[in-house]
Amino acid sequence: MNGIACVSVRTAFGSYLRAADGGGTHTAVHIHLTACPTCRGAWNRYRWDQASASPLVRELRDFLGEEFTPYLDSAAALAETWRQADPRSVEDVAAFFRASTAYLYNLTIWQASGNRPDYTSAAIPALLDHRVRTVLDYGCGIGNDTLPLLETGFGVTCCDYDSPSTRFLRWRLRRHGHDATVVEPGEVPAELAIDALWIVDTLDHLADLDTALGTLLRRVRVVVCENLTVRRGVSGKGFHHHRPAEQIAAAFTRYGFRSLNQAAEDGAVMIWGRAPTVAAPPGPRRSAPAPPWPAAANPPRCRQPPSTGPR
Ligand SMILES: [Zn+2]
Repeated sequence: MNGIACVSVRTAFGSYLRAADGGGTHTAVHIHLTACPTCRGAWNRYRWDQASASPLVRELRDFLGEEFTPYLDSAAALAETWRQADPRSVEDVAAFFRASTAYLYNLTIWQASGNRPDYTSAAIPALLDHRVRTVLDYGCGIGNDTLPLLETGFGVTCCDYDSPSTRFLRWRLRRHGHDATVVEPGEVPAELAIDALWIVDTLDHLADLDTALGTLLRRVRVVVCENLTVRRGVSGKGFHHHRPAEQIAAAFTRYGFRSLNQAAEDGAVMIWGRAPTVAAPPGPRRSAPAPPWPAAANPPRCRQPPSTGPR
C-alpha cells in the first residue's frame, strides 16, 4: 500500500528513526505510517525498544510509578484524546494540554528513542557566539532542551502550561539538582531578563503568533526555532497550525529579526537575531574573554529533523 510494502517500511525503521534518510524513503515511510495501523503499531513498539535503555524512560517510570504504561502508543492516544476533546478555542486547547498524559509520553518517547533532533547541540555554539546568557524555553514540555541548556550554564526560565509534562519537568529538575522557574504562557515576569527566546516545536501549537509572542519578541534579541523548512507533521484537525516557513519568517522580520544561519538549511534549528545585536566581533570568540558560563560539553552536530508530532 502507498507505494511501499509493509516489510520495506519495517526494514527502514532504523533510518527513519534517526532521520538518516531525509529523502524519498523517509517520506514514503511517513506516508505509509499515516495510512497503515499495523505498521504504526510496529513503529511504536520499535521506538520503545530503542528507548528501553534510555535514562529518560527510566525517569518516566520512576516518576509515574505504578501508573507507568509500558509500550503506550502515545501518538494514537494523543490523536484519540484530541478527537474526543474536540477543542474549539484557545482555552479548550490549553485545557487539553493541561490534562494530557499522552503528551507526556509522546514527548518522552520522541526524545528517548533518538527520534528527536539534537536541537541544543545545534544551537548552543551560536547562542554562545551571540553572548546569550538567559533563555526562555517557551513550550518547554518535559525539559528535553531545558536540561542541556542548564547544564551548559545558561540561565533558563521554563514556560508551559501546568500539565503532566511540566510536573515531570519539575521532578526532573529536582532530580538533576537544578533550580529553574516554570511559568505559564502569558505570565512571563516583565522584569525577567531574557536574551533568547527558545521556541522549538511550539510555533505550530500557537493559534496567533502576535498574541502569544509579540511581547516576548520585543524583549529578546535572539530567537531559536526548529528548522521550519523541513516538512512538519500532520495530526488531528487543529492540533497543529501549519504555517509556511515564509509566513513565520515574515512575522519574525516584523519584529526586527533576521536569519543568522540562513545557509544551514539542513540543520536542526533556525536562529534569528535582532539588528543591531549581531555576532560578536571577528577573532577568537568562545575563548576570549572567557564567558561566565562553561563552553558546550559536546561538539555541535546537526541532523535532519524528522517531521513533528504526534510522533
Ligand atoms: Zn504497513
